[in-house]
Amino acid sequence: MPTEAVVDLRSDTVTRPTAAMWEAMRAAPLGDDVLGDEPTVAALEARIARVLGKEAAVFVPSGTMANQLAIRVACGPGDEIVAHEDSHIIHYETGAPAALSGAMVRTVRGASGLFDADDVRAAIRTRNVHHPVSRMLVAENTQNRGGGTVWAMDRWQRVAAAGREGGLHVHVDGARLFNAFVAAGYAPEAFARHADSLSVCFSKGLGCPVGSALAGTAAFIERARRFRKMFGGGMRQSGLLAAAALHALDHHVERLAQDHANARTLAEGIAGIAGLRPIVEPARTPTNMVFFDVDPSACTGPELCARLEGRGVRMIALDPQRVRAVTHLDVDAAGIARAVDALRQVMRP
Ligand SMILES: *Cc1c(COP(=O)(O)O)cnc(C)c1O
Repeated sequence: MPTEAVVDLRSDTVTRPTAAMWEAMRAAPLGDDVLGDEPTVAALEARIARVLGKEAAVFVPSGTMANQLAIRVACGPGDEIVAHEDSHIIHYETGAPAALSGAMVRTVRGASGLFDADDVRAAIRTRNVHHPVSRMLVAENTQNRGGGTVWAMDRWQRVAAAGREGGLHVHVDGARLFNAFVAAGYAPEAFARHADSLSVCFSKGLGCPVGSALAGTAAFIERARRFRKMFGGGMRQSGLLAAAALHALDHHVERLAQDHANARTLAEGIAGIAGLRPIVEPARTPTNMVFFDVDPSACTGPELCARLEGRGVRMIALDPQRVRAVTHLDVDAAGIARAVDALRQVMRP
């Protein structure tokens, strides 16, 4: 398998289904989800709703669709979303809040992609004919560009309460929500209670080929289902994919701790190489993501990644001097050692 030859740390989306996951997919009973009789999709949706303590959930092709359905249901043209300036919905969803919902985003700032209740309160508009209508708060857990950071429960509670008191729909972009649960140790339901809707992704840390879900009230999800069809996300024998997700929920959640340990080892290795600096202190690497800066006197991020590629190690340059590596279930401790070794060699003066 190519994943054995190459240590691919570009993203946790690059994983291939395990043999056991393929088996679960093969064995799944299938129907037609658009016609409303897909038993495996229905089982997954019920499971996600239960895990997060919500009334309902809907299975969708991507995390982007899950977030954008939530935005489309919560917002209309001229409405405003409060979100951190480093949010995925701003940087990596092709301008969809504006394109699909006519909504604009008012940004807040804060270290590591997190912020405080006061930031939310300050961002909520007063009612005035000149202003957009503040309608929604979107927070990421884990926060991707902040370094895979996790919301502490008390801070999250205060932030979400500030949003709700200001009349905002509180949405969590939980592409790596299970990483957050494993790292923080809080119960999914205890965290999700403070949100009105949450997206979760099965193709990130959980190791599935495709799929995300959006959870919320039954009425909210019913409207999201309609927009899913409108946006072209109605799928047929999607139980194949839902079976992979159900398998991952059973077998790939607790093991995320191993990815987090590997990320920490990687960050420690990087910190020991002259010219490289992790953005988070290695001992405090929160989850499965390692972002680090490359000293411009050595090379640029893209140059570093090109040199690594020649040594069978893949990472992504996000900014001219910033590189990202993400650990996942197809990279073990030996792979991490190879990655650190390759970095040491390409950075040798
Ligand atoms: C990956 C990701 C998404 C969704 O991405 P898709 O590629 O559309 O599945 C959303 N939010 C965050 C924080 C992500 O990392």
